[in-house]
Amino acid sequence: MKCSTCGSEVTHIKVRRGIESCPQCAGFKITGGTKTDNILTRNSFRVRTESIKHEEDFIQPHSYSKGESKVKINDDFVKKYPMQAGEYYSDQELTKAGYNKLPDKIKQKKQKDNQAKIKDVEFHGDAKKAIERITK
Ligand SMILES: [Zn+2]
Repeated sequence: MKCSTCGSEVTHIKVRRGIESCPQCAGFKITGGTKTDNILTRNSFRVRTESIKHEEDFIQPHSYSKGESKVKINDDFVKKYPMQAGEYYSDQELTKAGYNKLPDKIKQKKQKDNQAKIKDVEFHGDAKKAIERITK
């Protein structure tokens, strides 16, 4: 972490009125006072920047609409993971939410994936006859 006051690289930062300062600048002891586990503090700069950086990983497939008091499709999720949307929503749900073309796209992709899987292993001949040949 970098102290925003003096710019030095430090392990502990204290945030006061939106300003991040090191022990030197803010005048606190690393070992005393604030609750730290020597790696992270709840309000440490790193924790906050990381959580903003990986914010999208926390996008949930459903969001709760307070106004309508019901669970809805999370548009952010559909935009970020369109092909996974089929695992969380039905075609009807997607169409109803305005994603008219998405169900078809998902189906097309699934078909493509399945075709690729089938091509991996090709069987020739008749399995029954092959077994007969071995057992006789
Ligand atoms: Zn400092």
